[in-house]
Amino acid sequence: MRIGSGFDVHRFGPGDRVRLGGVTIPHAQGLMAHSDGDVLLHALMDALLGAAALGDIGRHFPPGDARYAGVDSRELLREVARLIAAEGLGVVNCDLTLVAESPRIGAHREAMVANIAADLGIERTHVNVKATTAEGLGALGRGEGIAAQAVVLLAEAHGR
Ligand code: MG
Repeated sequence: MRIGSGFDVHRFGPGDRVRLGGVTIPHAQGLMAHSDGDVLLHALMDALLGAAALGDIGRHFPPGDARYAGVDSRELLREVARLIAAEGLGVVNCDLTLVAESPRIGAHREAMVANIAADLGIERTHVNVKATTAEGLGALGRGEGIAAQAVVLLAEAHGR
């Protein structure tokens, strides 16, 4: 068994929507990023790559690379899933935490879980997405951005 953790943060900037867990959510601001700024999926990918000792998303998808400008992070997640599988590893479960004062994600949580389960090829019952606020403390508490944390467990698929 392999455990991995991931963390990401993106700053709010001009815009009228955010992309979280592959779901587009109308919002008073957008998230600044080279990609679609999906902080939740970025943390998840880093956790997956970390568990497989494959580095991080910056190594696989360099932020300066024009191929990844505005890219849908779900495409990157599916690529990471292929990398994991190529190592003979399968995802057992993942647990994700969003840290944000806004937007509230309750109404979108099931869609996020469905997206992640589909992209990883696992059951929805093995994907958890939860959210908390920063209680008004610090930059996140002032609503300057959104952070996400991820923990994943991988298992050797072929008895390695
Ligand atoms: Mg990121």
